[in-house]
Amino acid sequence: MRWQWRFGGALVTAGVLFSSALPAQAATPRATTAAKPVNCARLKCIALTFDDGPSPYTPKLLDTLAKNGVKVTFFLVGEMAERRKSVVRRMAREGHEIATHTYSHPRLTDLDTDEIADEIQGGQEVVRKITGKRPKMVRPPYGLTDEHVQSVAQYLGLPLILWSASSRDWELRRADAIAKKTISLARRDGIVLMHDIVPGTVAAMPRILKVLKQRGYTIVTVTEARRGRLPGPGETWPAR
Ligand SMILES: [Zn+2]
Repeated sequence: MRWQWRFGGALVTAGVLFSSALPAQAATPRATTAAKPVNCARLKCIALTFDDGPSPYTPKLLDTLAKNGVKVTFFLVGEMAERRKSVVRRMAREGHEIATHTYSHPRLTDLDTDEIADEIQGGQEVVRKITGKRPKMVRPPYGLTDEHVQSVAQYLGLPLILWSASSRDWELRRADAIAKKTISLARRDGIVLMHDIVPGTVAAMPRILKVLKQRGYTIVTVTEARRGRLPGPGETWPAR
């Protein structure tokens, strides 16, 4: 099988990637970000997830999240992450969860097996090189998946993470509309789709966080929402 991918001129086999040890920086101490255990079986949890970044607006989002002591999950596009490595390092340092949204954001259902593997592994590898940690989840662009995509994700050992509620922020654009919509669709154990490439989303976050807290929500990462147990390789979650 041609389970190989090209990145930075190197041709690496999937087997080598799986077995390669993490580099030394993986052990970098995380001074202020030691995650407190969150018990979503008892708490009213909701996971906010941000796709397509990092963007020029992401640092402002990180400021808002830090100010509120909130951790979220970012699904990064590899080629965007390469352009803003310091922002990715900051996400990791501040305790956010980093997953991949592929290398270049294609419709995976239009690709052949090798291309799908290249996109997922390419996205993982960018994050690994920057943070020392390889993402353990992939969100397929546009939420597009099928049995073929699932079988490749299974081979690569990753679950496919979708969402239970969409803020539709890329359509709404205005911060007040995004805040209203996001607050209206909040549900316990929800996985909310947002985009840190949408400036209105970043502007809406202080209000969204304030209201969600008033309503008793604890904002968590996807892994925390899953009580620490991710879906199995190739599994799609939440189910549509
Ligand atoms: Zn996307």
